[in-house]
Amino acid sequence: MLFSELAEYYDKLESISSRLAMIDVLTEALKLVGKGEMQAAIYITQGTLAPAFEGIEFGMAEKLAEEAIAIATGYTKEQVDSSFKKTGDLGLTAQDMKGKSRLKSISSNRYTVLEVYNMMRKIATTSGAGSKDLKIKMLANMIAAANPVEAKYIVRYPLGQLRLGVGDSTIMEALSVMATGSREFKKELERAYNICSDLGFVGEELSTGGKKAVEKMHVAIFKPIRPALAERLPTAEEIIERLGGTASVEQKYDGFRLQIHKKGIKVRLYSRRLEDTTEMFPDIVKATLDEVKVEDIIFEGEALAFNEATGELFPFQETIQRKRKHGVEEKVEQLPLHLFAFDIMYLNGKDMLHEPYEKRRDEIEHILKGGELILPTTRIVTKSPKELELFFEKSVENGLEGIMAKDMKAPYIAGARKFSWIKMKRSYKGELSDSLDLVILGYFLGRGSRAEFKFGGLLCGTYNRKRDMFETITRLGTGFSEAQMSELREKLDKIKTKSKPARVDSVVEPDFWVIPKYIVQVNADEITKSPTHTCGRERQKDGTEIGYALRFPRLVGNETIRSDKGPEETTTTQEVIGMFKEQKKVSLKES
Ligand code: ATP
Repeated sequence: MLFSELAEYYDKLESISSRLAMIDVLTEALKLVGKGEMQAAIYITQGTLAPAFEGIEFGMAEKLAEEAIAIATGYTKEQVDSSFKKTGDLGLTAQDMKGKSRLKSISSNRYTVLEVYNMMRKIATTSGAGSKDLKIKMLANMIAAANPVEAKYIVRYPLGQLRLGVGDSTIMEALSVMATGSREFKKELERAYNICSDLGFVGEELSTGGKKAVEKMHVAIFKPIRPALAERLPTAEEIIERLGGTASVEQKYDGFRLQIHKKGIKVRLYSRRLEDTTEMFPDIVKATLDEVKVEDIIFEGEALAFNEATGELFPFQETIQRKRKHGVEEKVEQLPLHLFAFDIMYLNGKDMLHEPYEKRRDEIEHILKGGELILPTTRIVTKSPKELELFFEKSVENGLEGIMAKDMKAPYIAGARKFSWIKMKRSYKGELSDSLDLVILGYFLGRGSRAEFKFGGLLCGTYNRKRDMFETITRLGTGFSEAQMSELREKLDKIKTKSKPARVDSVVEPDFWVIPKYIVQVNADEITKSPTHTCGRERQKDGTEIGYALRFPRLVGNETIRSDKGPEETTTTQEVIGMFKEQKKVSLKES
């Protein structure tokens, strides 16, 4: 497939305002993708070069792209820059300048999707002396050979600003229709994606081997599994009841999640977002080799820094200092880590995902016997809400976040938030017991004292998993420092869109819409019902439509933007509805 054809479809996708129409256009496009180039087509559509765990990123600076546009169109860098100041989007600048190029097109070369992908990969992986000029030259060559629409995407792609508004779920739905004519096969594609975290690979298997090849896909070492996630419940009684009378109740540690893959003497570590973080934690690699005495294994746990003199665990703020790329050795000395293992997914050739938790837990305890740095999570097994409550109180007293209760009979449910894991966190008066992770959908301009920052707050939303849409839940204007306001404004300016993105459902109109990309952590006094927001919106008997909203929302958390979550990993609409119901129950009990 020629890249120019794919670019035409992207152009259509951008102008579409309904999700269903989006699936149709994407399906049509995917039907034209040949065998052997599906993987590339999917990565490009995702705006990436490879799955997160491969760690290949563009990191291209705008200045560099500006130079390439100038070379390819015959304009000066200053002219490109002044156009960029007007459009705010270098893709549009490239399209415009290509349309009125001062250079005759000398190249009759029409690049295929695969060729563009391969060249982009080369640009990303070129390093060392002279690499900057080489990158500019390669990009300029591609722009020179492109038509204006093609040029728009050739420039946006390496800048990480494709602006298609397509998510993984949308791609899987389109793949399903492409291959089978119906949406039914999406479930199977999801299963495959959840165990390998590589949608390009799943798409290529489908394209070359058909449905059967996807059905055959299984867990493999060095392909991280998308993490199982927890639901919430506020009381011990409800937890025990929901888990069928017996629960494995574990301490909930506040560190960072690591998925550990070991094959012989090779070990790789993956983060919550499935990025390869092996280089950051040589101590965990060593501890795995020393203490995990099995050939092949995939297991998972929470890493926390501890005080070597007292054995005490450090809070998250200390632990997080270990997440760094430089000065690793020094930090290993200062802040040694423990890993509290809580699950096992693969053992010596055997897929453990389908084994009941009690068996997986037995296995992990057995394997980790006598370990020093890698330990199983502290836990009790109980039928008694009272006992669960006491364990929770004690955990909180010991400075932990709360507890995780687990269904003894459940399999490991990759990539989904289910009631086989239930979290209960310590809460403070006047605050929701858990913060929400919301996606930024738009922003409002500042007035009064905030006019200087041109920042008057954010429009934030949840992800509705069933509809594959983003729904608004709150306007967020509190909790920001001045530095955070400037940072947000700068980041958001780069992803502004002219109109509301197709997968956003909103009745509120912010001053600017943005591509759903960044996540903020928000707490509030309570969840209320509201006609203003579309989160969980339902038509009432009297014809009005009511959704959910937040009362007194404020920005919280350690980072302005959560770096470990993507837009589809926000708190879902379904979770908000659950939290609303639970909150109602609690307040009924309290009154
Ligand atoms: P989530 O990871 O569920 O999207 P989150 O990042 O906001 O949400 P929390 O809601 O605080 O995190 O809790 C879930 C996280 O708790 C897990 O992802 C895991 O990293 C951590 N965790 C700590 N202790 C345990 C445990 N015993 N079992 C499972 N997970 C645990």
